[in-house]
Amino acid sequence: MKIYHCGHCHYPVYFENVVCNNCGNWLGYSSEDDRMLALTPGQTEWNLSTGGQSPIKYCNNHQHEACNWMIPSSDPTGLCDACDLNRTVPNLSDPEKLREWQELEQAKHRLVYALYRLGLPVRDKMTHPNRGLAFDFLATEDADEPVMTGHDEGLITLNVNEADSVNREATRIQMHEKYRTLIGHFRHEVGHYYWDHLVAPKPQVLEEFRRLFGDERADYGEALEQHYKDGAPNGWERNYISEYATMHPWEDWAETWAHYLHLMDMLETAYAFGMTVNPPTTPDVIMRVEADFNPYQQRDMEKILKACVPLTFAINSLNRGMGRPDLYPFVINDSVRAKLEYVNRVIAEARNN
Ligand SMILES: [Zn+2]
Ligand SMILES: [Zn+2]
Ligand SMILES: [Zn+2]
Repeated sequence: MKIYHCGHCHYPVYFENVVCNNCGNWLGYSSEDDRMLALTPGQTEWNLSTGGQSPIKYCNNHQHEACNWMIPSSDPTGLCDACDLNRTVPNLSDPEKLREWQELEQAKHRLVYALYRLGLPVRDKMTHPNRGLAFDFLATEDADEPVMTGHDEGLITLNVNEADSVNREATRIQMHEKYRTLIGHFRHEVGHYYWDHLVAPKPQVLEEFRRLFGDERADYGEALEQHYKDGAPNGWERNYISEYATMHPWEDWAETWAHYLHLMDMLETAYAFGMTVNPPTTPDVIMRVEADFNPYQQRDMEKILKACVPLTFAINSLNRGMGRPDLYPFVINDSVRAKLEYVNRVIAEARNN
C-alpha cells in the first residue's frame, strides 16, 4: 500500500489513522481521490471548499471505530463503498465481537483499496443482486449451523471467530497451513467471486484456465472430502502455491489470486518506501532489487516476480532476527509463475473493458 500523509501537516500516517499524531487534526480517507483528508476536530460535517465539493462526513461505521472513510453528507446509506458491502455484521453490543469485527473491517478495507488499484469493479450485491459482492460476518454463537468461511454467488461468509488470533493460530496448525490471516481470507474468497465474472463467461479465458489449473467441472464435494481424508499429493510443491490449492482447480485459482494480491501489496509498499535490496557481500545478482516501479502500473509479471524474490528473502530474514514467522513463507515455482502471469492477464483484460 502507498504511504498516506495528513492533509494538514503532511506527516506520514497509516491508512487506518483517524487522528494525526503530529498536528492533532482528525483524519478521514477519501476513496474518490485516494488521499487522507485533515478535518477540524469536534465537527460532524466538513466543507472542504476544494473544487466545489459538497459537505462530507464520516461513514457511519466510524462510530464503531471500524472505518475512517469519508462520504458525501447527502449519501442515502450513510456508509462508504467498503462498508456498503456488508450484509451482516456481528452483535456489536458484545465488546469481544466488536473488536473482532473491527479487525475484519481493517482487512476488508485494505482489500477494497487493492481492488480499486487493480481497476476491478466493486459493486454491492444489495444494489446489484446478480453481479454484486456482499459480506456476511457471522459468529458461531449467533448461527443455527456451523459458520463456514466461503463464497457463494457474490456472497462471502467469514466466521468472526477467525479474527481471534488464538483461534486462528490453532486452526492454522490443525490445517497444516504456513500462513493464515484475515487479509489472506479476504483475498482468497474474493478470488472466487472474480472467477465467476472474469473467467467463467469467456470461453477462451476459460479454456486457458483449464490448461493451467485443471478442469473445474470435477466434483467439488468429492474433491473436498478426498482432500481432508488424504491431504495434498506428494510433490505438490512443484505445481502449487499451497496444499489447499491442490484440492480443486477453483481453490488453486483462489489461492493463486490471493498470492497475486499479496505480492502486489508488498511491492507497492516497497515502492512507496523506495526500498532497495542490494547486499554488498554477495556477487549474486538475483539478490539485488530496486523497487522502483508501481506494480499496479506494471503489466510485466516477470518484472514483478523478479523484484519479489529478493524482497521477501530480505524481509523474512529481518523477521527471523526478531523471532517472528517469515513474512512470506512460500516458494514460487515455474508452474505458479505461469498461473500468476495468467491472473495478471485476466485482471489487465478486465481493466481494459
Ligand atoms: Zn497532521
Ligand atoms: Zn465505511
Ligand atoms: Zn476457496
